[in-house]
Amino acid sequence: MTIDIKNIRFSYGKREVLQDVSFSVPDGRFAALLGPNGSGKSTLVKVIAQVHKSAGGEVLLNGREASTLTRREHAREVGYVPQSGEAPFDLTVREAVLLGRTPHFGMAPRTADWRKVDEAIELLGLAELVDRNMSELSGGQQQRALIARAIAQDTRILVLDEPTSALDLRYQIETLQLVRRVTREHGITALIAIHDLNHAARFCDQIVLLHGGKIVSDGTPEEALQSDTLGNVYGLPVKVQNIDGYVEVRPLVEDGIEYRI
Ligand code: ADP
Repeated sequence: MTIDIKNIRFSYGKREVLQDVSFSVPDGRFAALLGPNGSGKSTLVKVIAQVHKSAGGEVLLNGREASTLTRREHAREVGYVPQSGEAPFDLTVREAVLLGRTPHFGMAPRTADWRKVDEAIELLGLAELVDRNMSELSGGQQQRALIARAIAQDTRILVLDEPTSALDLRYQIETLQLVRRVTREHGITALIAIHDLNHAARFCDQIVLLHGGKIVSDGTPEEALQSDTLGNVYGLPVKVQNIDGYVEVRPLVEDGIEYRI
């Protein structure tokens, strides 16, 4: 399913944080949304997930305007993984993952719904935690439960808001591999807001770079990750290299000099 973002604008009060944002993610592609803190990634993900209503422009899902869908119709098309702080705290892991199935069943879950829940729990390595309360989990475990909920939702689009930020290296890689696999094997279209430029370059087909609420580059990792653009956007000189066929971005810093990304 194609995502077409056309001229999206969004403001919190008087502060405009998305300005005329346009890009497309073709069917079955895994795209990364990059940009420094405050550039508008999370807001844009929330607009696509219909958590926020844009002040202008369109979000088209296979040509259909997302805002014309009912909440239930939208939830059958778009799975949303919020940041880990937004987890449903008073539920067990199994109940939280089952929430992903609510757009699909009527009064009560059926066998097929529980099967999807169990598959997602297994896939995210949560089997030992199913009866634990979400509030008792670590940030990384909560993130995995939120990803499992979106996988159980079984949608053709996944939008993920920094789903790897609290994960250790192994789970970061496993999550990115998992999202890439579902795009490859099931033709799901995925958009992930993420900070790690090198993970994005390694796992994603497309990079969309936001800065100050505007798109500054959009293309393959080779096209979108240019040292001069990244230097401007992050305020730090970087070197971009191709190592073993993958783009790698390295900050150019001298020992002892503090820097922030
Ligand atoms: P990112 O995900 O790239 O860090 P965000 O979309 O979270 O960026 O934030 C974009 C801008 O909007 C920032 O300047 C941020 O301070 C502001 N912002 C985010 N959420 C709110 C909110 N609920 N109310 C007011 N301003 C907000």
